[in-house]
Amino acid sequence: ASAEQRFNDRNPKSFEYHQSAVESLPGGNTRSLLHTAPYPVVMNRGEGSKLFDLDGHVYQDFVGELTAAIYGHSHPRIKEAMMHVLDNVGLSLGATNVYEKKYAELLCARFNIPTVRFANSGTEANLHCVAAARRFTGRRKVVVFRGGYHGSVLSFAFGAAANNVDPQDWLVSQYNDIRALERVFEEHADIAAVLVEAMQGSGGGLAGSQEFLRAIRLFILDEVMTSRLHPAGLAATLDEAPDMKTFGKYLGGGMPFGAFGGRQDIMAVYDPRQSGSLAHSGTFQNNTLMLNAGYTGLKEIYTPAAADALNQRGEELRNKLLAVFAGTKFTVTGVGSLMCIHCTTTGVGADEIHCKDDYWPHDYADLKRLFWLEMLEAGYWIHQRGSIALMLTMEPAVIDDFVGQVKEFCI
Ligand code: PLP
Repeated sequence: ASAEQRFNDRNPKSFEYHQSAVESLPGGNTRSLLHTAPYPVVMNRGEGSKLFDLDGHVYQDFVGELTAAIYGHSHPRIKEAMMHVLDNVGLSLGATNVYEKKYAELLCARFNIPTVRFANSGTEANLHCVAAARRFTGRRKVVVFRGGYHGSVLSFAFGAAANNVDPQDWLVSQYNDIRALERVFEEHADIAAVLVEAMQGSGGGLAGSQEFLRAIRLFILDEVMTSRLHPAGLAATLDEAPDMKTFGKYLGGGMPFGAFGGRQDIMAVYDPRQSGSLAHSGTFQNNTLMLNAGYTGLKEIYTPAAADALNQRGEELRNKLLAVFAGTKFTVTGVGSLMCIHCTTTGVGADEIHCKDDYWPHDYADLKRLFWLEMLEAGYWIHQRGSIALMLTMEPAVIDDFVGQVKEFCI
């Protein structure tokens, strides 16, 4: 039977679920990225680094909630921190609470920023940061990069996205291309900031070169995905400190989370003691559950030593995959514990991929789908776009078995 046929044969309950979900959810979906044709595998629960689907299959979770599930599913210490809040504190107090300062101090010290504010998501953190840059500079436009992803309505995967909130304010340039960036500045005077990832995550695990990132001034570094890639965030590996940084994902300990911070004079636009300060409101952005879960995870579990070890494990996995992929249409890019497997008709190598246009136009969709289907069948949950995010709970032996499975596919 073909891989497609076997997919249908082994997932009847997921199929049934989808048939009825389409009645209340467009396409049966509430998170576009998780849709797979003809219907998605539906999960029942997660435990450590395993996922269990409706049809009774068990998967090793290499998706890691698109980088946010760094602690594994339901880490006992984070569960305990959340139960403490539920039992003793209450969820949203409609007032300043003591968990704010505690976590703010930890974030500022760890990621080298003078001040920080919380938000409900990475998307929101980026929007607030852009608002601060606009107010501070008195300018309007923001430079972003093709393939950049800064949140749901801030996606620049193929240039300016159709669902962008205010497309006229974004200037989309090419990632890792200094000359293109210079041209944007030559052509536009009204630029407030540059919003960039030091490694484009959703864009395909593409690392920014030092020269490229050094060329950017008044920049907002989107560390929503990349803060996990070094004990002090990927910013610590750059020659120049960004003016502002945004955070998200695992820093909420599994709860919705966003944070942004940086230069004190810029962040002062949010100081409510100043007349005319910018409003930064939002019902749940100081919720105690998220603050204590996030604090506990960063303080006790994702310590600097744990970050180093996990990223080292990621480098080893990427090198093993590169060896397995040699001479095939596949390759893998990334930094530390985050990576993305590419499959191109041209068989372009990892060293030749600097921006989305280096691989995307050559996407070998059929072969990539076969790879995804066969990994699924073997019990490995990877994202269909090829991205992998290692979790702390993933056993080295499981990682090696995965490499073995990939090798078998390639032979
Ligand atoms: N920025 C980057 C680099 C991201 O990868 C993401 C999410 O994938 C976001 C921002 C948006 O974060 P959230 O999904 O919490 O809104």
